[in-house]
Amino acid sequence: MQQTKKDYFFRVVVAGGGFGGVKAALELAKDPRCAVTLVSDEDTLTYHPLLYATATGASRKISSIPLSRIFAGTNIRVVKDTIVGIDSSRRLIVGRSRQYEYDAVVFGLGVVTNYFDIPGLAKYSWGIKSPEEIRAFRKHLHDELITTKHFDKHYVIVGAGPTGVELAASLKDYLLKVGRWHGLKQHHVNITLVEAAPRVLPRMSEKTSRAAAKRLRELGVHTLLGTTVKGLDDHTLHAGDRTIATETVVWTSGVTNHPFYAYNQDVFRLSERGFVTVNEHLEAAPGVFVVGDNAATKYAGLAQTAISDGAFVAGVIKSRFSGAHLPIYRPKAPFSVVPVGHGWAALERLGFRLTGKSASWIRKIADLIGYHDLLPLGPAIKLWLSERETEEFGCKLCQKNNGSSRVARNT
Ligand SMILES: Cc1cc2nc3c(=O)[nH]c(=O)nc-3n(C[C@H](O)[C@H](O)[C@H](O)COP(=O)(O)OP(=O)(O)OC[C@H]3O[C@@H](n4cnc5c(N)ncnc54)[C@H](O)[C@@H]3O)c2cc1C
Repeated sequence: MQQTKKDYFFRVVVAGGGFGGVKAALELAKDPRCAVTLVSDEDTLTYHPLLYATATGASRKISSIPLSRIFAGTNIRVVKDTIVGIDSSRRLIVGRSRQYEYDAVVFGLGVVTNYFDIPGLAKYSWGIKSPEEIRAFRKHLHDELITTKHFDKHYVIVGAGPTGVELAASLKDYLLKVGRWHGLKQHHVNITLVEAAPRVLPRMSEKTSRAAAKRLRELGVHTLLGTTVKGLDDHTLHAGDRTIATETVVWTSGVTNHPFYAYNQDVFRLSERGFVTVNEHLEAAPGVFVVGDNAATKYAGLAQTAISDGAFVAGVIKSRFSGAHLPIYRPKAPFSVVPVGHGWAALERLGFRLTGKSASWIRKIADLIGYHDLLPLGPAIKLWLSERETEEFGCKLCQKNNGSSRVARNT
C-alpha cells in the first residue's frame, strides 16, 4: 500500500540500524499513524558490549543480531542502503540506491575509528569494533599459530578504556585454548595493555581503577601506563621510548563522529569535537533528529544512552504529529560495568561503586536487559543464555578463510 500523508500516515525514516535507530523505530511502530522505514547499511545490529566476548571465542550470534529478527511481527520496512545525503528543503534523504521522503527523520549512524594520523596504525593494527574486524582478528590469531607453531612475542592492546580492559582480560584464556587445539606445547602468553593516561579505566574513579589494575595483574596482563603510541610497522610497535616486537596490535583507543555530518553542514551544526549540536528535543534541524553517539549530549558514547535517546525521540515525533506538548530531553546518567575476566567486573554509577563477582552478575543482568530492549523477553533470554556457548576453536575458521592474514586488517 502506498503510504502518503493523504492517508494520514506520517513518514518517518530512521537512518542507521544500531541501538538508537532500532529503539526509535520499535517505539514509533507502536503508533499506527507512523509509516516507519529503517535504512541501514548492514543486515544486523552490532551488539558492541559483547564484541570482546566474540573476539575471544564466544558465539558470533551474541554480538550480531539480525534486524529481521528484531523487527519480526512489526510493520517496519527495513531497507539495506547507505545514506549519503539529505535535502532538508525537499524533505528527502539520499541513499546510494534511492531517495526517501520524510515527515521526520532520525539519524543514528554511530562513530568511526580514529587513528589520530599515527603512522602505520590504520594499516597494521587490528580492531574489534565490528563483526568483520573480529572475524579478521580471530583468523589472524589462528593463522599465526598454524604458520609459526608458537604464540606471538607480544599481544598488544592499545587503550585501557572498557574495551581494551575487557579484551586484555579475556584474551589469554582464549589463546591458550586455541593453542591447545593446534597442539602447541607453549603455555606462556604475553599480553600487554598500553595506555596514554596514568591509569587503567581513566574515566572511572581512582579506586575502581586500582582494583581493575590489580585484577589485570592477577590475570597476568602487563600494563604500560602513561605511554603514547608513536607508530607501528609490520613487526614493531613504537610506544613511548620502547619498541615492542609484535605481529598483533589491537587499537581500541579512538573514535570520531561519522563523516556524514561534516559532509552535510548545511543541515547539521557541529560541536568543537565534531558531534551534532541538538536542541532540547534532540532536533538538529526542523524534523531532523539525531540520537546516540552522533549527538553532542552529556552521556553520548554508550549503548544505554543511544537506546534512551531513541525512545525519547520517538516520543517527541509522536507528540509533534498529535500537536501535543513536546517532552524535554534530560540526559540519564548511565552505569558503567566493565567485565575484567571471568566472574569479575567493576561497576560505577553516580559515585556508587562495586567490584568483584557481584558486579559481574549485575553486568550479566544488564546484558539481558539490553537484549530485552531490542527483542521480546523469550528471544532475549534465549540469546542471553547463548552467551555461554563457545565457538569451535578449530578450525572451521582457518579452513574456511584460507588466505593470508595480512590482507584483512582494518580497512
Ligand atoms: C567495542 C565496543 C564496546 C562497547 N561496549 C559498550 C558497553 O559495554 N556498554 C555501553 O553502553 N556501550 C558500549 N559501547 C558503545 C555503544 O556500542 C555505542 O554507544 C552505541 O552502539 C551507539 O549507538 P548508535 O545507535 O548511536 O550507533 P551504532 O549502534 O553504532 O549504530 C550505527 C548504525 O548505523 C549504520 N550506518 C552507519 N553508516 C550508515 C550509512 N551511511 N547509511 C546507513 N546506515 C549506516 C551502522 O551499520 C549501524 O547499524 C561499546 C562500543 C564499542 C565499539
